[in-house]
Amino acid sequence: MMRWKDGQVLVECPLKEPAHNEYKSPYWHIHRADLHRGLLEAATALGCKMYLDSRVVKIDSAVPSLTTKNGEVHTADLIVASDGLHSMAREVVMGKPGPPVPTGQMVYRVTLPVSKLKGIPELEELISVPRNNHWIGPHGTILSYLLEGVNETLINFVFTCDVNMPDGVNQKIGDNAEVRASFKDWDPRIDKMLEHVDEVLEWRLYTHEELPSWVHPSQKLCLIGDAAHAMTPYLAQGAAMGIEDSAILGGLLEKYPTKETLPKVLHAYEQLRIKRAAKVASASIESRYFTQMPDGEKQADRDEYLLSHPGIWKGHRNIRSQKEFLDELFGYDAYAELDKYIAAHEFERKGGVEKSGFGKSSLEQVSLTA
Ligand SMILES: Cc1cc2nc3c(=O)[nH]c(=O)nc-3n(C[C@H](O)[C@H](O)[C@H](O)COP(=O)(O)OP(=O)(O)OC[C@H]3O[C@@H](n4cnc5c(N)ncnc54)[C@H](O)[C@@H]3O)c2cc1C
Repeated sequence: MMRWKDGQVLVECPLKEPAHNEYKSPYWHIHRADLHRGLLEAATALGCKMYLDSRVVKIDSAVPSLTTKNGEVHTADLIVASDGLHSMAREVVMGKPGPPVPTGQMVYRVTLPVSKLKGIPELEELISVPRNNHWIGPHGTILSYLLEGVNETLINFVFTCDVNMPDGVNQKIGDNAEVRASFKDWDPRIDKMLEHVDEVLEWRLYTHEELPSWVHPSQKLCLIGDAAHAMTPYLAQGAAMGIEDSAILGGLLEKYPTKETLPKVLHAYEQLRIKRAAKVASASIESRYFTQMPDGEKQADRDEYLLSHPGIWKGHRNIRSQKEFLDELFGYDAYAELDKYIAAHEFERKGGVEKSGFGKSSLEQVSLTA
């Protein structure tokens, strides 16, 4: 983490070793396209059928069935709605409108090949050391990290700031001049990098209040991912939480693959996931205010604390350096949590199988996504 104005390093949170040794998994930066490709390959291997250009316009939760804009109707035993931040299924589950809540902030995202920045001495470290570089400043932050591109290494920059977008627009191709103007007083390396940028993407940031339930009373429709728990991206955990949801729901359906056990499966799914997702969402919001303090007494106190508390500590004021929070976040083992829950609850086992993990259930499932 660095001071916004000059890039002075305030604190380092070395996660590489704990990720390997304590959390038993590497800490990776993955391009969204690669993640999508991996998920597509896994789904195809499991026999899922994919329908593209099939926006769902209606859900009948009693059957359950869904109707696409092309007029096709699909029926199933269970609909798993993963239709994201602006989910239409959320309204069906809640029985009333549940739009996401604007945070008043937005991001500009800039991705470019590191080769474009080669030979610029002050940028050398940023384009060669794999880590999160996090500038923290008044009402905004900048995060940069390296990604594997198709043929070359990329660098991604995420600029977060107060909204500077027309009303009603949630996402658009942006203007490099606007980013340069908004961040002109920041670490001079930023403007140096922005000289080489062509394309900027802009997103408005939303969150959502904790939902009382992710399951429709019919027990035939449930929410997953951002549809269930849209959260701010300040801790970069939204997709991670969606993937944890799917591990739990997939694990439960594999163990209890009958229509009769669906209500219990869905109840267990909620019990295992709602509180955890809400806790991470609230930590993410807390992180916004910790990292975006305007310059002044509080910020000076924060910076002094960070400078005198390098590394990962129990009780650290910075959540990214706080041992107990990191243990909870990265030490979470979805399958172990599932096994613990099952052991602790009386679960009627009708035709269940022993192994936990992803697998094929005999239930017909429709996943609502594009
Ligand atoms: C700037 C930014 C940076 C982020 N960085 C990270 C990060 O580093 N790590 C991380 O874990 N998370 C990150 N996130 C959060 C992450 O992007 C989301 O949590 C994640 O994409 C949610 O996945 P999802 O599948 O639930 O929803 P989405 O990815 O939103 O997918 C929903 C899909 O459903 C489709 N859809 C919507 N309505 C319908 C309909 N009616 N019929 C059919 N299909 C429909 C949409 O077209 C879309 O394809 C970031 C978010 C932002 C905005």
